[in-house]
Amino acid sequence: EVRVRFAPSPTGYLHIGGARTAIYDWLLARRTGGKFLLRIEDTDRNRFVPDSLDDILASLRWLGLEWDEGPETGGGYGPYFQSERLDLYHQYAQQLVAEGKAYYCYCTSERLQELRKSQENAKVQAGYDRLCRTLSAAECEQRNQAGLRRVIRFKTPLSGRTVVKDLIRGELVFENETLEDLVLIKSDGFPTYHFANVVDDHLMKISHVLRGDEWIASTPVHVLLYEAFGWQPPQFAHLSIFLSPDGKGKLSKRHGATSVKEYREQGYLPEALFNFLLLLGWNPGTEQEIFAKEEAAQVFGLDRVNASPVKFSTDKLNWYNGVYIRSLGHQDLAERCLPFLQKANLLPDPCPAERFAYLVSLIPLVQERLKLLTDAPQLLDIFLQEEIPALSKEVLIPKKMDQATTLRVLVHTHEALQNVADDFQEAELEATLRELAIKLELHDGQIFMPIRVAMSGRTATPGIFESLHALGKDRVLRRIQTAIQ
Ligand code: GLU
Repeated sequence: EVRVRFAPSPTGYLHIGGARTAIYDWLLARRTGGKFLLRIEDTDRNRFVPDSLDDILASLRWLGLEWDEGPETGGGYGPYFQSERLDLYHQYAQQLVAEGKAYYCYCTSERLQELRKSQENAKVQAGYDRLCRTLSAAECEQRNQAGLRRVIRFKTPLSGRTVVKDLIRGELVFENETLEDLVLIKSDGFPTYHFANVVDDHLMKISHVLRGDEWIASTPVHVLLYEAFGWQPPQFAHLSIFLSPDGKGKLSKRHGATSVKEYREQGYLPEALFNFLLLLGWNPGTEQEIFAKEEAAQVFGLDRVNASPVKFSTDKLNWYNGVYIRSLGHQDLAERCLPFLQKANLLPDPCPAERFAYLVSLIPLVQERLKLLTDAPQLLDIFLQEEIPALSKEVLIPKKMDQATTLRVLVHTHEALQNVADDFQEAELEATLRELAIKLELHDGQIFMPIRVAMSGRTATPGIFESLHALGKDRVLRRIQTAIQ
């Protein structure tokens, strides 16, 4: 059975690289009828960020990546928080010590620091010098009696090779002499990432480990740990990093948002981010670019995941967002815009039904022009507010028009629109205004632009007749009246 896990550490908001890993995990599980687990690797207490756990859960759910086992869901292999599994790690570390495959190390942090410094000066990268590896039982006992702090280190084989089979990169061969005696249990009693990760992947019966390629260098030691226990290692797939849009280096904060939360707040749809991240590293083998989740779950496989780094293109993400925004029904899009409009104080929270219905009626006016949900306030504010801010002369008189003509247009428009039926139907509005243009011997544009500015304070709005209709007779007449004064 395929069992995959996403194993974030609550050390920050869910990163988009992590989100891609979770997407691939989820797809692999769905494709194979397997299970998708969420495990929280919270053993590094120094780096713990309090609200990051909530963010990780919320961001995964926002992307539609429900987990089969994990926090809040439960499952048969819990607990799913590593901080609740400390006894297990101790038990397994003790086993390795008893079998002579791990040892107590009493080196102080001062000694380790000096060691590092002298290695730096000599320009060698040897790591821990294994001083405690050869301590006898009696020597250890002596140090325990003296109350020295200790860690447990793995006895990495000093010779031979370790082969990591990576589903994306093929076989990677490591010389054991280049590997360190990694710490398994820290002096505070917490396990290191490496140890807890291996023990849990085994106990949770994980079949495939998908993770970022920053972990490749650690994987040979993980493989050695599996061997030391006599366990079958899972299959590994290390995913490539994201490059910046210019392709010149790793994507970082400098290039823009890196957390799912930021993208959500910037007005991206989860469908768009999902689709975009899916194709950052996986290709379907066809030209197809649009994949809804369920469709992707039918075709996704690790065989089409590329090993080379991929450029993160915000333009492409924006394109996806536009595609998905245009594909939504009016009601649905209105619901997605609502929180952004509420945040801008354009609609109350909770939003009364008739106000929401009005919002739904406005959606066709802006759906084509909306690139991000955060654009909604500036496209819709003229409709959602009773009044617009007072207009200055410079704004009121369109370019290439003079004050007298502008005023003449507005006065006549006000008069003509009074005679239009109260429901302000677009067809009647259009007929009335075109007739007016003929009567005043002006081009349509010379009529429409002053009206547009008077009703909105802007030179660009959704279509003029739709907009007049959406505003309604009262507000239009009032705004034109104000502009004339
Ligand atoms: N806790 C690790 C991380 O945050 C998990 C790496 C792995 O999947 O093995 O990246």
